[in-house]
Amino acid sequence: MKTAFLYACAHHPCMENGQRQKVERGRDCPAPMQRLDKEQIRIFQRRLLRWYSRHGRDLPWRHTRDPYHILVSEMMLHQTQVDRVIPKYGEWLAAYPTFEALAAAPLEEIEQLWRPLGYNFRPGRLHRIAKYVVNELRGELPDTVDELIAFHGIGRYTAGAILSFAFNQDAPIVDTNVRRLIQRIFDIQGLPERVSARRKVWRLAAALIPHGKASIFNQALIDFGALVCTARHPACHTCFANDICTISQIESRRENLGK
Ligand code: SF4
Repeated sequence: MKTAFLYACAHHPCMENGQRQKVERGRDCPAPMQRLDKEQIRIFQRRLLRWYSRHGRDLPWRHTRDPYHILVSEMMLHQTQVDRVIPKYGEWLAAYPTFEALAAAPLEEIEQLWRPLGYNFRPGRLHRIAKYVVNELRGELPDTVDELIAFHGIGRYTAGAILSFAFNQDAPIVDTNVRRLIQRIFDIQGLPERVSARRKVWRLAAALIPHGKASIFNQALIDFGALVCTARHPACHTCFANDICTISQIESRRENLGK
C-alpha cells in the first residue's frame, strides 16, 4: 500500500533531532504531545511565573475567588478592553453583588447599566444564568466544565477561567492571546481556526499548568500574551522565552543567514 507522506512536520522536538517527521495529510503530528520537551516546559513555567511576579497586572478581579465575580469579569472582558471593564466591573458589583441580587433585578435595569460596554446580549445571558443558579442550584455555580459549558453564554474559555480562578482547578484557558503564544513557542502548525490545531493548543495549555497553580499560571499566560507576545510586535529580543521559543529561533536563524 502506498503511504502518503504529504507534509514534513517542523515541530521543535522533531527539528532538534535534525529531521522532520513525516505526517500524513489530515493527521495530527504526534510530536507535540508525545515528545514535548519536558525541560522546555519546566523552563517556561518557571520563567513565566517569575516574570508575572514582577510585571503582572493588578486587576480588581484578581483579588477574589468568588465564582460570581469571576463570571462577571469574564463576561465583561469578552471582546472588550481591560481599561473599559475596570470601572464597569466595580459599578456592577456595587449594584448586584451576588447572584441573588442580579436575579432579582429587572432585565431593563441591568441592560441599562451594561450598555456602554457593548455586545448588549451579554447582560441578558448573565441574568438568565443568575436566575437558574438561584432557582435551581441554591445559588452555587457548578465546578465542572461540563456543567458550566451547559449554560448559554459560558464557553470553554470562560469555564476554564471560573474553574482555575475561583476553584483553583488545573483547568486550561485558551483565548486568542494564549493560542498565539503557544503556537509560536511550540510551533503548532495550522491555522488557529483548524480543529486539529485548536485541539493541540488546548492540550498543550493543559499540559503546561504546574500542578496546583492554575490560577496564577493562567493569569500569567493572559498577561504575557497581552503585554509581551503580542499579535503585531512581539518583544522577542527581550522576551524571557526567546531561547526556547521555536518561532524566535527560526527568526534568529533567518537573521543570521541574512534572509
Ligand atoms: S520569543 Fe517572541 S514569539 Fe516567542 S514567546 Fe517570546 S515574544 Fe512570543
